Amino acid sequence: MSRGSDPVTHSIETPDSPLAGSGPAHDRSTAGWDRVIAHADMDAFYAAVEVLDNPTLRGKPVIVGGSSARGVVTSASYEARIFGVHSAMPTAQARKLCPDAIFVRGRMDRYVEISRAIRDVFDAFSPVVEPLSLDEAFLDLTGSERLLGPPIEVARALKRRVIERTGLVVSVGVASTRMAAKILSDMSKPDGLLILGPDHLCAFLEPLPVERLWGVGRVTLARMHQEGIRTIGELARRDVADLKARFGSFGPHLYELANGRDPRPVVADWQRKSYGEENTFEHDLALDSLELRRVLIAHADALGRRLRADQVRARTVTLKLKLARPLGGGRYPILTRSASSDDPTDDSAAIAKLAIMLVARVTEREKVRLAGVQVHNLERADASQMGLFDSPAGAAAKSTRLNRALDAVARRFGDDAVTRGLARAERAAPSRRIK
Ligand SMILES: [Mg+2]
Repeated sequence: MSRGSDPVTHSIETPDSPLAGSGPAHDRSTAGWDRVIAHADMDAFYAAVEVLDNPTLRGKPVIVGGSSARGVVTSASYEARIFGVHSAMPTAQARKLCPDAIFVRGRMDRYVEISRAIRDVFDAFSPVVEPLSLDEAFLDLTGSERLLGPPIEVARALKRRVIERTGLVVSVGVASTRMAAKILSDMSKPDGLLILGPDHLCAFLEPLPVERLWGVGRVTLARMHQEGIRTIGELARRDVADLKARFGSFGPHLYELANGRDPRPVVADWQRKSYGEENTFEHDLALDSLELRRVLIAHADALGRRLRADQVRARTVTLKLKLARPLGGGRYPILTRSASSDDPTDDSAAIAKLAIMLVARVTEREKVRLAGVQVHNLERADASQMGLFDSPAGAAAKSTRLNRALDAVARRFGDDAVTRGLARAERAAPSRRIK
């Protein structure tokens, strides 16, 4: 393995292979790609960190894991893998396979530290990064071509930046689906880079063992074998109705994957997040009371501020109400109502309007003891759009200006300084922030 060299593929690449680690075949354009998805995965991460921090380990079989009788291998250097050692293997077995191995106890703090540096690098290449663990992530590179160049150049640059920043090697797969990208990064290891165009996706999947498909575990695999299905191609050619009869709704799902159709997008971790504010009242409030409105407006104000500070916008607002009628055992009925808007927003007034509108949808005529507002379905606030509003005009611009002014006041004097001229909402306890 040549660390830091220009990454090329290893045994997999052939001159007429649909896989390109280098060469002109699929370098230049992503025309015809629905999505461009990279999967980046650090090589033997924990073991590599140990070698990085203790160069005397370089070139030796290093095994990270519990050394007790019941310990398992969490990571093994490639020098150890040659002996058949792999992660999740009992340490005792690894010791038998590779008696000369150097066993190291893991240092999670250090792995987390390096993981953050890796994440910084990934974030510089895509606004949509979906981490799967400390050392691997999907990056959505769709539409990045104009800015960053063709995917192969991006992937090479990514590998270079990770080495420069951390001294560690990452392998990268690029494809039009998540599943294929992940299979490719795995196949390319160590120090690999594989790119597969969508035209070649099915031909690539065809000969692979069916357990390569996500979700095919031991039980499903045994049943697939019973049905005479051993490769992804064999599954792809089956009758989908027949698969449904035999495997339930999982059958058609696997059939789609086998045929190269995997519509799941890369979802950034910030997109999964939601923001929420809620509080319990000193006295139960009527649904149509002014006090309840004030509380919702205060929550919306706080949410808008948090969204703007994080530069994200939300499409969906959820109202949460806890009714005052006890169910016994300290429990109360909880109602939620949600509404989404076409335009993602970070505007407190827009969030308040939706929340108040949702109160009107509640048919129960009961008092409430708690009210909360949550926002989710987040999007990154578009930087270019924000630029447009630098010299705002019109209604949206007016609320942008107002929000900025309020944010500035809140930063100086604290959140409670800003409740849009309303009396402070009645609170039994300070609002709870939920993230
Ligand atoms: Mg890894």
